[in-house]
Amino acid sequence: MKYQHILFDLDHTLWDFHTNSMITLRELFRELELKHFFKDFDLFFNLYEENNLRLWSEYRKGLIGKKELNFQRFYYPFKVSGYDEEELARKFAGEYVKRSPLKTELMPGAVEILEYLKPKYNLHIITNGFLEVQDVKLKKSGLDKYFERVFISELIGVQKPDVYFFEYVVKSLNASKKECMVIGDSYEADIIGAKNFGLDHIFYNSTRKKHNNSVMYEISHLTEIKDIL
Ligand SMILES: [Mg+2]
Repeated sequence: MKYQHILFDLDHTLWDFHTNSMITLRELFRELELKHFFKDFDLFFNLYEENNLRLWSEYRKGLIGKKELNFQRFYYPFKVSGYDEEELARKFAGEYVKRSPLKTELMPGAVEILEYLKPKYNLHIITNGFLEVQDVKLKKSGLDKYFERVFISELIGVQKPDVYFFEYVVKSLNASKKECMVIGDSYEADIIGAKNFGLDHIFYNSTRKKHNNSVMYEISHLTEIKDIL
C-alpha cells in the first residue's frame, strides 16, 4: 500500500462549518433580539458575510489578530447600519465562538469515509482553525476517535499553505512525502500547500465550483475517496 498517512483538513472538509455556523448565528440573532436592529436574519447575515471574508483574508496575511477578527466581523453589521452597539457585538462574538464549536453537523459521507479509511491508514487532522475550538469540535462531533494526531497552525506557528506547515507535519509523523495524502476543500490553503511541498492531494470541491487549477484528484462527495484510496 502506497500511502500510510491521510491528512485531513477539518473545517468544510469533515466538520460542516457553514451549517454549524448558520445554526449558531440564527440562534444568537434570536436570543440577543437583533431584530431591533436588522429587519431580518438575512440582512444581518449578508452584512456579516461580506466583511467576514475580507477579515479572514487579512487574518491569514497576519494583518489582524484573531480577537480583532472575531469582534470586527460582528461589529461591522451594526456599524454600517448606523448603530454603535459595541457591547452587544462583543457579546455576540463571545457567544458565537463559545457555541459554534459545540455544533455537530458533518459534511455528507464524513463518517462513512472515516470508517472506511480508519482500518487501512493513519488518519490525522491538519487545520488552520483556532486552537481553542478545534479540539472541542472534534470531541463534540465524535470525530476525534478517528484521528491520531491533530496539527493546528497556531501551534506550528505558520498556516497552510506555508510549506513549513507541511514539512513539520510530515517530519512529526516520521513519514516520507510519498506516504502522505492531503485531503481538503481549500485550493488556496490545502492544495497549494500540498503541491508546493510535493504531496499527493485530493481537492474536495463539494459545490463543484469551476476552476482552472491543476489538481491531482478532485471529488465532490467524500465517499468518492473510496475510488482513490
Ligand atoms: Mg477547510
